[in-house]
Amino acid sequence: MSALSYYFNEDHETFRKSIKDFLEKEATPHIDQWEQEGKIPREFWKKFGEMGYFGLAYPEEYGGSNLDFFYTVVMLEEVSKVFSGGLAITAAVQTCMSTPYILHHGSDYLKEEFMRPAIAGDKIGCIGITEPGAGSDVQNIQTKAIKEGDNYVVNGSKTFITNGIYGHFVILVCKTNPSAGAAGVSLLVLDLNSEGITKNKLKKLGWHASDTAELHFDNVKIPTKNLLGEEGKGFYYLMGGLQLERLAGSIMGYSACEGMLDYGIKYMSEREAFGRPINKFQVLRHRVAQLAAEIEATKFYVLQTCRMHNEKKYAVKESSISKLLASELADKTAYQVLQFFGGYGYMEDYKIARAFRDSRIGTIGGGTSEIMREIIAKMVIEDTNYDRATSNNAKEQPIYDSVDSIFSTLPSRFKADKAKDKNLKMLFKFDSINYLVVINNGNLEIQSNSNLDATSVDCIVETDDQTYIAVKTGKINPQEAFMTGKIKVSELMKMMEFGGLFKKL
Ligand SMILES: Cc1cc2nc3c(=O)[nH]c(=O)nc-3n(C[C@H](O)[C@H](O)[C@H](O)COP(=O)(O)OP(=O)(O)OC[C@H]3O[C@@H](n4cnc5c(N)ncnc54)[C@H](O)[C@@H]3O)c2cc1C
Repeated sequence: MSALSYYFNEDHETFRKSIKDFLEKEATPHIDQWEQEGKIPREFWKKFGEMGYFGLAYPEEYGGSNLDFFYTVVMLEEVSKVFSGGLAITAAVQTCMSTPYILHHGSDYLKEEFMRPAIAGDKIGCIGITEPGAGSDVQNIQTKAIKEGDNYVVNGSKTFITNGIYGHFVILVCKTNPSAGAAGVSLLVLDLNSEGITKNKLKKLGWHASDTAELHFDNVKIPTKNLLGEEGKGFYYLMGGLQLERLAGSIMGYSACEGMLDYGIKYMSEREAFGRPINKFQVLRHRVAQLAAEIEATKFYVLQTCRMHNEKKYAVKESSISKLLASELADKTAYQVLQFFGGYGYMEDYKIARAFRDSRIGTIGGGTSEIMREIIAKMVIEDTNYDRATSNNAKEQPIYDSVDSIFSTLPSRFKADKAKDKNLKMLFKFDSINYLVVINNGNLEIQSNSNLDATSVDCIVETDDQTYIAVKTGKINPQEAFMTGKIKVSELMKMMEFGGLFKKL
């Protein structure tokens, strides 16, 4: 058994051949033109949908094929090898970054209206998170959607929205309760032809075949039935969705690396200098070997994370590591392979020039490398463990049957040495009782209902007694509780910082 067949079976490989043939026939001959025009024709995406490529992991009742995640991996690998990052990202945004929110949180109406046509290739979707004043700091978004009768009225702006010019709908991340922090964020499906939307097509360094939009909303009406899931839970839905977005970015990253390296190796066998092919120079051979080693190692790590995703595991750390390694490696590969081409690498006639431009976005879009390192650092240094609750030992559970019994353990679990430079004021609101926990340079103070002074808190955590007990005793995954809105946290970063200052229950 080859190492790869550990992840891909014969059916996956048959599928790979089909999509490869499709792309060679329908995309490759036209890529240069699409890159120049900054647009991929609608007809191409319609054919892509008809071939079933948009619906691989979607339910059959909506026109999908209900296949395992590795078919999506094959699709992303192959679209990433046509040397047009713009084409690859359009397919990835549609299947892995926008439509999944409708699949997981949408009503039957939204599935019929937007998901079915997205699977068929009749409608193209986008995800609208980033704003001119809020990129990495997602909680700080300002776009408001205020309920008025049967509509939400939207005002604000989004920027850098992939598919935002020629697409048909956007999963709009907005505040339906602007004063509630993360707990006021909701997701709405907005038809991009609605009145009051102004679109501005942005000029970019790379991804030329992809349309990137700045969108302004001036009193845009969205029917309330276009709300995804429940109001105020958008931030949690987004946290879940971003793992798949990052995984898709990782697959595109290592796959682009493979495409670039193959292209470089072929050129090195044809180009001669000093009377021999340049692939005989040891310095270049070693560079190829190093890249090949790093690409293979990264690919297997990403595929292992894909396996976790396929098994419905919530792989926050692994998705972040995958995205960090694969996108940075794509940048390095593009730089080094271009060097193999000498001056020709700098010419538009050679595909490596475009790949060099296209790879640069990998470490920025979908969460920057710095943000990936922040997430990984929190999990590695501060013991923030998203899967912690699922691995708890059930026999401890009966001891903790009230919020009070759990809060009484805080002093013994407090990591005073880690907290010596920390100042945090956390308010916990339960059905039965409220607690204020103040951390002040290594000191811990806990106040309950009776003497609560809850002014100027850093973070408010709201949940019911049973959910909290279930999370702390390992019956519910904390991440799941966040995502489904059973626990509301106004400032997630503060909550994570707080969690890292206590030993496990
Ligand atoms: C071509 C393209 C397509 C895109 N498509 C989409 C899309 O479809 N939908 C969408 O919503 N967005 C999209 N984006 C936006 C993208 O996700 C953001 O650009 C990205 O998240 C970074 O946000 P920012 O640009 O505001 O940078 P900022 O958040 O302003 O960051 C600037 C710099 O500061 C660093 N930084 C910020 N915070 C920290 C921190 N806490 N610690 C350390 N360093 C930090 C960043 O890493 C970065 O280097 C796209 C962007 C581009 C360029």
